[in-house]
Amino acid sequence: MTTIIDGTKTAQTVRGEVAKAVAQFTQETSVRPGLAVVLVGEDPASHSYVSMKERDCDEVGIVSFDHRLSETTTQDELNALIDMLNADDKVHGILVQMPLPNHLDEEQIIARIAPEKDVDGFHPYNMGCLLRGEPAPRACTPWGVMRLLDEYDIEVAGTHAVVIGRSNIVGKPQALMLLERNATVTICHSRTPDLPAVCREADILVAAVGRPAMVDASYVKEGAVVIDVGINRTEAGTLVGDVDFAAVEARASAITPVPGGVGPMTRAMLMSNTYEACATAQGSA
Ligand code: NDP
Repeated sequence: MTTIIDGTKTAQTVRGEVAKAVAQFTQETSVRPGLAVVLVGEDPASHSYVSMKERDCDEVGIVSFDHRLSETTTQDELNALIDMLNADDKVHGILVQMPLPNHLDEEQIIARIAPEKDVDGFHPYNMGCLLRGEPAPRACTPWGVMRLLDEYDIEVAGTHAVVIGRSNIVGKPQALMLLERNATVTICHSRTPDLPAVCREADILVAAVGRPAMVDASYVKEGAVVIDVGINRTEAGTLVGDVDFAAVEARASAITPVPGGVGPMTRAMLMSNTYEACATAQGSA
C-alpha cells in the first residue's frame, strides 16, 4: 500500500506550530516577527505567489511589509531598499520574489540581503553554513522536503538518496540536507549517463528537474520513496510534476503528489524560517 505524502496537510501543521510559537514569543517579548516581501514588476504568477505568502503571514501572526516596485526599478533603487530593510529592526526576514526583471542582477540582490534576514536561505554565506553543517536559514523547498520525510517517519540515515537536479535553490541544498542526515547521496543532472539506472539505486529519489513526467517507472526501485519537487504548467494550464505519478505510484512505498506535495511546504517553511530569524535576532540582541 503506497503512502501518499500529503504536503497540504503537513504545511498546515507547520503553520499551526509557527502560529503557536509566534503567539507565545510575542506575549513574552512584545516583538512580532516581520517579513518584508519585495516584488518588482507585473508578472502575474509572482503577484499571486506574493499574495499567498502575505496571507500565510496573516494566518501565523507575522507582520508582512509589502514593497511592490515598478518594472522600471533600477538596481540602485533596489539595492537601497534592501539596505533599508537590512537596517530595519522590525524586519526579521526579507524575501525578494524571483525572477526579477532581466535588467536586475538577482545574484547581487541575494548577496546584499543580510544573511540573518535571508529567510529564503539563498545567500552564499547561508549556503556555506549548510555545506559546513552549521545552523543558518535553510532553503525553503528542500527544507520542506526534509520536514515531509520526518512527518512520515521516513528514515534517511543509511539510505541511498538520489537527487535529480543541481540548482542552487533545490538540487544542491537538497543533497546537502540529505547528507547532513546521513544518507549516502548521489546528485544527477543533464550530463548523467543512464539516468534511470542511477535512479533505480535510490531508496529516496528526489526529482527537481523541471521536465513534466520525466521520471517513469523505469527510474524507480520497488519500495522507493519518491519526492517530486517539479512544478510544470501544461498547455491546458494544469500543474504536473517531474514524476509520472500514475506510472510510479504502485512501485513506490511513499510518493508526493503534484499539486499538494512539496509545493505547499515551501511557503510553510518560509514562515518557519521567518519566526526562527526573529527569535535568533532577539536572542542575540
Ligand atoms: P533548474 O532549471 O535551475 O535546474 C534543473 C536541474 O535539472 C538542472 O540541474 C539540470 O541539469 C537538471 N536537468 C534538466 N534536464 C535534465 C535531464 N533531462 N536529465 C537530468 N537532469 C536534468 O530548476 P530548479 O531547480 O529551479 O527547479 C526544478 C523544478 O522544481 C522545476 O519544475 C521548478 O518549477 C520546481 N520548483 C518547485 C518548487 C516548489 O516550491 N515545489 C520551488 C522551486 C522549484 P544541468 O545542471 O546539467 O543543466
